[in-house]
Amino acid sequence: MAERRGKVYMVGAGPGCMGLISAKALHILQHCDCVLYDRLIGKEILNLIGQNAELVYVGKEHKGDVRTQEEINKILIDKTSRHKVVVRLKGGDPMIFGRATEEIKSLIENKIKFEIVPGITAITSAAACAGIILTDRNTASSVTLVTGQTAEGRLTKIDFPSLVKLNGTIVFYMTVENMKLICQKLVKAGMKADTGAIIVANASLANQKIVIGTVSNIAQKCIIEKIQPPAVLIIGKKCTSLLSNQTLFGKKVLMTRDVLGNAEFACKLAARGAQAISCPMFEIEDLTGSKDFKHVVEKIKNYDWVFFTSPTGVKLFFKSLKKLKKDGRVFGCSKIGCIGSETATALNDYGIIPDFIPKNFTSVDMAKEFIKKYKPNGMKILLLRSALAEKLEIKGAVTETAAIYTAKKIESSFSKIDENVDWITFGSSFAVKCFFEKFRPEDIQNRKIASIGPVTTETLKKYSVKPAVEAKEHTIDGLIESMENSK
Ligand code: SAH
Repeated sequence: MAERRGKVYMVGAGPGCMGLISAKALHILQHCDCVLYDRLIGKEILNLIGQNAELVYVGKEHKGDVRTQEEINKILIDKTSRHKVVVRLKGGDPMIFGRATEEIKSLIENKIKFEIVPGITAITSAAACAGIILTDRNTASSVTLVTGQTAEGRLTKIDFPSLVKLNGTIVFYMTVENMKLICQKLVKAGMKADTGAIIVANASLANQKIVIGTVSNIAQKCIIEKIQPPAVLIIGKKCTSLLSNQTLFGKKVLMTRDVLGNAEFACKLAARGAQAISCPMFEIEDLTGSKDFKHVVEKIKNYDWVFFTSPTGVKLFFKSLKKLKKDGRVFGCSKIGCIGSETATALNDYGIIPDFIPKNFTSVDMAKEFIKKYKPNGMKILLLRSALAEKLEIKGAVTETAAIYTAKKIESSFSKIDENVDWITFGSSFAVKCFFEKFRPEDIQNRKIASIGPVTTETLKKYSVKPAVEAKEHTIDGLIESMENSK
């Protein structure tokens, strides 16, 4: 009998931000058995992969060694003898400069079933984040994707005169190293020296940088701005940014949440053309693996009300339910409340529509509003929160608390805050505390401070720091809105 082999999905992960992966790719990642991934696949995407999948890093550099394409092909084939669903995860789209040819050929030769799942390629995310129209019916009837680095590392194969003659938009991938030479060759081939050129590095991610210039000065500007790969270079007659007059465009915004929180925040900032700088001050520690927590889950249906206070808490709770092979029925007839619209959305994602969401998003306001509305005399209430949250009593009720997660300060790799930073953002009191254990208030003078809400603002004041803005809605979207509305 022929050997039963698994199927390979060549999946495009998009540019790296969680929101920019396709629904199909996400579904496959959540249900696959094994994932082979590259260097450009970040933590945010890896975090989406189902808990039982085997993860294999096949970046070209592996612990100092360089993996050959043959080795990668072989690992891919090997994995199909052990797993039913094997994902070959590539950055952007697998069919655009994704070195998919060799791998697909090898799958065909070995008679292994495969399917290609497209992803958002670097240029479409870069164009969105920088607000650049790639084609226009009057000015650019074509867009050409070109590599700035041929297999032999030379540019001799590129037909520059033909590219110029097309008179459309030209996009160079893998461009940083050869940018000066590429631009010189374009001008030599007849392109006007004042043709627009924009570089977008780390599109949609933390440290996104956008540099605007012309084909004759962009290379020099990129040296000044210390542009590093990955970056795409976009060149065209009408290559300008439609976002450049938005408030946060080009602004440097320092984020002080945990790594994943920063990544999610960065994606939203990048879409506005901002440069989000990730300075994680703490990490989240999941506490749902403990015996105590298992016990909480078992008796959860005995409470009249169960409260979730953050999206992180919701996600970790349901992840732990899955591990315990349980589902939403653990709540029995308990009613569910939550603080904040983001927490409500996270609950919705697990099929739960909260019975109570207070108008204001702080714990104290939540308690006040709840007492007024439900008069909870004798009710049993369970608060599922962070171990660091301040004690909260709901008067009249029997209130118990279970810690889902805690946060731990981490050693920041930043020794100082760059003087060009425009905004420093704080999403919690804990982030403020960690930040000022490392930096002094005078280290951040003249930068605008954005606070997510009154509790965080109070903590900032303890360090004599007065925020320029405080979010009206105490969410990351609210924080961004407050910065956008600031003069
Ligand atoms: N398959 C990928 C491209 C891989 S080649 C895709 O479809 O996007 C690697 C090149 O892609 C990098 O050198 C850079 O030019 C570009 N790139 C990848 N991620 C990028 C990002 N986040 N921002 C800008 N360019 C990126």
